[in-house]
Amino acid sequence: MPIYEYESMTPEKACRECVRRFEVVQGIHEPPLTDCPHCGQPVRKVISWCHSAIMEPSQDHVRVNQKIADYEKQGMWSHAAELADTHSEKTRDKSLKMRAIDNYEKAGYSADTLAKHAESNSN
Ligand SMILES: [Zn+2]
Repeated sequence: MPIYEYESMTPEKACRECVRRFEVVQGIHEPPLTDCPHCGQPVRKVISWCHSAIMEPSQDHVRVNQKIADYEKQGMWSHAAELADTHSEKTRDKSLKMRAIDNYEKAGYSADTLAKHAESNSN
């Protein structure tokens, strides 16, 4: 979930939580905060497009997806599967996990091998 940055609109009345900018983790569809959760003074969202926590995963995601597509094009199924698998763990992306399983199957892994693989990964 993205991290949003807020700042106090009334710094002279701000509590020690909102006197500096503070970060809140919120779902994309959650309404923005209008007041500080600690003191109730009005706050506003700071627009920071370059915030690394928001930008990096999506760029990374695009790059990884291209790499997986490349492997698939070349028929390197196990490479594609490994990459999709690792990345789906990191991003908790279910569709990527399905793609990994699909590619594992194309690479000739059986369901048995996959179960063992999952076991060795979790250790
Ligand atoms: Zn406050």
